[in-house]
Amino acid sequence: MRIIPKNSVRVLDPETLRRRGLRLTEPRRLILELVRGTDLHPTAEWVYRRVRRRLSRVSLGTVYRNLRLLVDEGIVKELPGTVGRHAGKARFDGNTSVHHHFTCSNCGGIHDLAEPVDPSLDRRMAARTGFSIAHHRIEFYGRCPVCQARQGPRRRARKRR
Ligand code: ZN
Ligand code: MN
Repeated sequence: MRIIPKNSVRVLDPETLRRRGLRLTEPRRLILELVRGTDLHPTAEWVYRRVRRRLSRVSLGTVYRNLRLLVDEGIVKELPGTVGRHAGKARFDGNTSVHHHFTCSNCGGIHDLAEPVDPSLDRRMAARTGFSIAHHRIEFYGRCPVCQARQGPRRRARKRR
C-alpha cells in the first residue's frame, strides 16, 4: 500500500541526468526503477537481487555505488537509524517528498505514514534554537499488524502463568 501518491515523485528523465553530468546507464536506470517501484524501503541487497534477475552481470558493488550516487544527487532518499531484522543496513526510498515513517522493531518493515508534515514545527524549532531548519521527519517505532498477530497469543499465554 502506497499512501503517498506516485505522482508526487519527480520523474527523472535521461535529459535531467545528463544536465547533471550523469549518464542513465542500464543498471542505473533499472536500480532507480526498482527503488521507485516499491514502497518496501529496500536494502541494497534487495535491489541487487532484483537487478540480477534482469542484468545478471551487475555486481553488488555497482548497485551500492549507484544507490550512493542517486542519494548524493537527491534522487533517492536514504533512511537513518533502522532497527529490527535489517538493523544497521541502509534503506532506500524512491519517494523523495518529506513524509514520516513507521518502523516495525520486530520485522524491520518500514511504512510510509499519511500523517501530514507540520511545517510550523520547523519554524517553532528554528525560533527556539537559532538553527536554520530545512525540514523534519518523524520516525515512529513499534510493531506492525503482522508482527502483533504473530506474537500476541504467545505473549498472552506466557502472562497467564
Ligand atoms: Zn513487523
Ligand atoms: Mn518512505
